Amino acid sequence: ATRTLSSASTDPTQKEGIEMNVRVENRFDGKVAMVTGGVSGIGAAITERLLVEGAVVVAVDIDTDAVASFTKQHDSTRLQPRVLDVSDADATRTVIEEVVTEHGRLDLVVPNAGIAAPGNAADVTLDGWKAVLDVDLNGVFHTIRYALPHLAATHGSVVSTASISGLGGDYNLAAYNAAKGAVINLTRSVAVDFGKQGVRVNAIAPGPVLTPGLRQWLDARTDVRDLYEDHIPLGRTAEPSEIASVVAFLASNDASYITGVTLAVDGGLTAWTGQPH
Ligand code: NAD
Repeated sequence: ATRTLSSASTDPTQKEGIEMNVRVENRFDGKVAMVTGGVSGIGAAITERLLVEGAVVVAVDIDTDAVASFTKQHDSTRLQPRVLDVSDADATRTVIEEVVTEHGRLDLVVPNAGIAAPGNAADVTLDGWKAVLDVDLNGVFHTIRYALPHLAATHGSVVSTASISGLGGDYNLAAYNAAKGAVINLTRSVAVDFGKQGVRVNAIAPGPVLTPGLRQWLDARTDVRDLYEDHIPLGRTAEPSEIASVVAFLASNDASYITGVTLAVDGGLTAWTGQPH
């Protein structure tokens, strides 16, 4: 059986709307997934994609209001929203144990929750540095660490949301660049250690994605919108659904021989040397 996912860009400011008619199989029927930061932006799109493909999705987020409003908008018994701060190791372990007790298994974790703090290495505040590392690196680590025994039992997988800022450095984002770079090498490390137990561990490195946050910024900064159109070989930012579809691919058996990889999903941005043209 297959379902059709239809999604069209609703952003009139995109140069060309994208039309997607994707035939998706029910690759996650009977599977249980946990998505962190799973009720807004990219995480919400990942949660929705996994729901469409049949999974039970435990969507966790620190933002109580966002959890409540996402739950209201989605009428699915397979959506299991929870409030969780992934920087809290004990709380993350507790939620994962409760999920396995309730559903009997865990097949996939998507450590996706992330924050950023402005600043280069000389002027980022120490609180900002620590907060970013606590969520973007430690939060990913906690989620993977406590999921691993359960993923080994199901031959499951991890797909973390890194960023192109973990592949190269972006100006004035020292903490974010450092955390995302560390996620990429943590991905390799866990893939190496747990491959023989049948666990696959991958990450994605999105370029700019048109989430509500980025949309707000681009509305205020049309110069940046123009720069994106010029610098990104595909000439536009990504829709969240275009990131979610790659997560679903990496998590599915279609990617059964892929592990330890970070896949750039960036419209070609990191393929470009950055030299003037
Ligand atoms: P977003 O702010 O829309 O979503 C992030 C979610 O994580 C929010 O709902 C937030 O409440 C939640 N969160 C924050 N701290 C948390 C914590 N301690 N515990 C649990 N949840 C927490 O942002 P987004 O743009 O959708 O980003 C999702 C991921 O994608 C992040 O890791 C981000 O770094 C990455 N990313 C985003 C872009 C982009 O252009 N939007 C590009 C590359 C990578």
